[in-house]
Amino acid sequence: HAKHLGGNTFQFFTDNLQACTVERLQLESQLRKGIELGQLEVFYQPKLSLADDSINSAEALVRWRRPELGLVPPSEFIGLAEETGLISQIGEFVLRTACQQAREWQRQGLADLRVSVNVSVHQLRNGNLVRLIRQVLDETGLPPRLLELELTENQLLDNVESVIAIFHQLRELGVKLAIDDFGTGYSSLSYLKRFPVDYVKIDQTFIRDLSVGGEDAAITRAIIAMAHSLGLKVVAEGVETQEQMDFLKAQHCDEIQGYLISRPVEMDVFVNLLKEQAAALCQ
Ligand code: C2E
Ligand code: MG
Ligand code: MG
Ligand code: MG
Repeated sequence: HAKHLGGNTFQFFTDNLQACTVERLQLESQLRKGIELGQLEVFYQPKLSLADDSINSAEALVRWRRPELGLVPPSEFIGLAEETGLISQIGEFVLRTACQQAREWQRQGLADLRVSVNVSVHQLRNGNLVRLIRQVLDETGLPPRLLELELTENQLLDNVESVIAIFHQLRELGVKLAIDDFGTGYSSLSYLKRFPVDYVKIDQTFIRDLSVGGEDAAITRAIIAMAHSLGLKVVAEGVETQEQMDFLKAQHCDEIQGYLISRPVEMDVFVNLLKEQAAALCQ
């Protein structure tokens, strides 16, 4: 297309590209420094078990608290972290923090909460993941059944055999495995059968238009039925309305996560949520 736009267009594109590269390099070094300075934080978003309307689990989600700039969401730095390999360091921090925290909640008698941590394909392939998980469980004393690892569907589709082998090792440790953002990748039903996982998380794009009925409702219904027939539990992400929750309950979805229950919140706020739930149970 550039040809038709006149002589200066190419120059414009390269300038633009260079600006992007400089920005990228800056962001990378700032992120590196931010990690060193302890600017990363873990937020928690509850998952509600639909069988008994209780919070039985929470997803750990990273945030970058930058002085002056405030709270930066993962969408602004996870991509870069993946490209530069910084994601392994970030992932290890989130894993260790979340496991320490879940163990602490257990120790305080607050909840026997499963905590789920997102794992990047980088960590899956660097050969250290199984050792790291074992080490962090040892260090923190968290029972393995209370740790869940979420892996995005479309990151699992290369080298399927080696991924499956690592999954088997992780399950031997006793941790739970989930396929995240399910339905957005291109995996077929036969893949789902081959991955030794415990949970499927339906991507929020399907949940968004659920109340309208139609296609997304049909897909959601099909995913739930299929997962259940394979003995897997189903979590729906991005649940924002009562109608969506009612639909999912009627379809026997196991757990829901979304703004309807709570946004991801910082640790103190999450602890208050747990305390409120504990108090309500005592009444
Ligand atoms: P994810 O693992 O699929 O996490 C769910 C995302 O959906 C979170 O975004 C959460 O805030 C958002 N969400 C939850 N409920 C709702 C809702 O009702 N409506 C809407 N519109 N959104 C909702 P967040 O925290 O911005 O994280 C985005 C993604 O960044 C995550 O998607 C995950 O892929 C990645 N990520 C976050 N933390 C980590 C981490 O520690 N390691 C790795 N590797 N990736 C991470
Ligand atoms: Mg996730
Ligand atoms: Mg997801
Ligand atoms: Mg996602």
